[in-house]
Parts: sequence; structure tokens; C-alpha cells
Amino acid sequence: MHGTPPLAGWSVATVSLRPMAKLGILGLPNTGKTTVFNALTRLSAPTAAHPFSTLEPNVGVAPVPDQLLEAAAEVEASKKIVHATLELLDLPAMARASSGRGLAAQFLGRLREMEGLIVVLRAFDDPAVPHEESGLSPSDQAEELLLELAVADADVFERRLERIAKEATADASKRPAAEALTRAVHLLSSGAALRSQQWDEEALKVFRDSAPLTLKPAVWVVNVGEDDSEGHVDEVRAVVPPGDTVVAISARLEEEGALLDPEDRGELFEALGLGEGALVKVVKAAYDALGLISFYTVGPKESHAWTVRRGATAPEAAGKIHTDLQRGFIRAEVASMEAVIASGGWDQAKRENRVRIEGKDYLVGEGDVIVVRFSV
Ligand code: GDP
Repeated sequence: MHGTPPLAGWSVATVSLRPMAKLGILGLPNTGKTTVFNALTRLSAPTAAHPFSTLEPNVGVAPVPDQLLEAAAEVEASKKIVHATLELLDLPAMARASSGRGLAAQFLGRLREMEGLIVVLRAFDDPAVPHEESGLSPSDQAEELLLELAVADADVFERRLERIAKEATADASKRPAAEALTRAVHLLSSGAALRSQQWDEEALKVFRDSAPLTLKPAVWVVNVGEDDSEGHVDEVRAVVPPGDTVVAISARLEEEGALLDPEDRGELFEALGLGEGALVKVVKAAYDALGLISFYTVGPKESHAWTVRRGATAPEAAGKIHTDLQRGFIRAEVASMEAVIASGGWDQAKRENRVRIEGKDYLVGEGDVIVVRFSV
């Protein structure tokens, strides 16, 4: 049945097929990566209790949970509801540094294509699931993975620096790049992530050409036992770059919950004291870390969440809906989602003067509901 979904949880009645950003899920073997992936995407990829069970990446789409969207769909009696989405890749397990395997070039290539990372750390103990490859200390795993990523970036930057330093002796315009790379190599060699330090725009431009792994925003997911508390979050926060989000979840419970319909899931999580479920936090944190915001179009036909970069103008946002809307953009009618819901719908919000007119320089805000006036 495709009624309006209840407020608790989220719905995948319809999912936009053009996800905005790609996130890679990584971690040491048997930490629960595939289980997290399944819970986020509600696909059932095979999980197995042996290391390196994931050889080829699973690719899936995670709907961004959005209670405002669902509330709007309810007041508009929308036939269809379209959530914003993120694309997820469940990457093959990373080998431990101590195993001497290092990171395969192919794996690193994949990782560089990602815009952000979800890193799974294992805290759950289960005799049925071997943990030789990861251990049970999430902060040790976080340190190891950070080091692996920093070493991979340092390799690339050192090679680039060698080349650019040579060029810079003859070409002064290359000197700032050489200096930025020198500082980066220094930081990376100490095992620290590039994002743990502030860089000016010029340096960032130089770095971005190599898609460095330690510049990518990361959300750390501590996979705790079913009866564990959030005790591990602080110890992980202490070792990851400041500003990174750390979330504790029980991947297995979340996976079970994800297979239920929103109502039953709500009841299960309520009974377990899990609130809306921790996955919601993971997806929201990833969305935030990537600098993404949602704006909306609402109506009886559909209520739709669209994704733009923070700082997008009204015409850029309009272009997400249709290129004609950007090309022929005249103005946007804008109200906040809260106002639309409080009024009981867009039309009513308009009658109550809660809708304003914005021009082409308007920067779209998180939670704006927009109607684009255009002419082509
Ligand atoms: P990956 O190798 O990191 O992708 O790990 P998987 O997601 O394949 O999980 C490895 C094994 O651990 C599977 O048998 C999972 O069912 C199990 N597992 C994952 N998360 C949890 C959890 O939170 N608790 C318990 N007890 N087992 C889990």
C-alpha cells in the first residue's frame, strides 16, 4: 500500500535516480561494512562471517531521511514523495597495515572517486564473527585507517612535489604550488589528515588535482554490540580530525529495522530506546559533511526534496529541477518548509503572505520551498 508514510522513520515509496554525491563505505575486514550498507540502502547484499567477503563494491542508493518532506506530503496530500539520495559504495575491506598488504592501487583509485567516506569501526564482540583482522578497539582502527590514508596521500604528493619542485626552479609561477605541497607532505608524513588543518583556497586547488583521501569528509560509524552504549564515541572522537562526526550504531539491529516498514521500525526502535534509529544520524551527518542542503517543491502531484550545494543561487537550484527553469529563470517564490507545513500547504501559505519573491542572486536556504517562474 502506498499511503502517506507516517512521520516516524522515512519512506522509499519513490527514490530519485540521480543521487547527488558518492560516498564510499570502508573499514577493516568483518567490521560490518556490508551490514551498514544494507541498513542504509535496504538492499540485501550478502554478508558473511569471514574476512574479505566483499570483493566487488556493492552500489546502492540511500534515501536521506526527511520528516519535513513527509509532513509536507501529508498536508499537500501528495501522490508521490521523492527523497533526496546519496550514492553508496560498499568497498572491499582494507587490509591492516601490519599485514604488509598495503592498499591496492585499484582500491585507492576507487576511493579517490568518492566525495566522502563512511568509515566503519568494530566494537561489537561476537565469537561467531572473527576479529583478528580488526581487533575490537574502534580508536585503534581509526588511527590505523587514518594512517593508511595519510600514507597513500603522502605517496602521491611526494611524487608530485618532486616534479613541481623541479619546474619551480625555472618557473616562478609554480612556486606557491611547490610550497603548498611541501607543507602537505610534512603534515601527511606525521600521519595527520590534510583536513585536520586549515588551508587557503590556492593550496586546496593544488591538492584537489590529486583527489587526496584525507581531504574528503568522513563520518565515523562505531559498530557496537546490541546492548552496548555510546561509550566508544568519545575515544574515537579523540583520534579523528576535529570536526568529523562520530556515531555509534548497532549495524545488525539497524539492518533488521531497515527491512521493516516505517511503522514497525518505529515501534522496534522505540522499544529498544533507539529513537529514530542511528542510521538517520549517519546519513544526515554525511549530507552535512558534504556541504549539501535540501530545498523542496511540494504539491498534490508530488513532494520532492532536491539537493544542492550550500551557497547555490536560485537559478542553480532551479536547474536541478529542469534546465529550462535555469535558462528561463525569472524569479522564485520562496517560503520555509516550516511555514508551508504550519499553514497547511503551499496555497494557504501564499494566502497568509508567507511566500516571498526572490531574484536570481538569491542563495537558496536549507528547507526552502520553491516555485520557479520562468519563460523559455
Ligand atoms: P564487512 O566484512 O565489514 O563487510 O562485514 P559484514 O557486514 O559482512 O559483517 C561480517 C559479519 O559480522 C556478518 O556475519 C554480520 O552479520 C556480522 N555483524 C555485522 N554487524 C554486527 C553487529 O552489530 N553485531 C553482531 N553480533 N554481528 C554483526
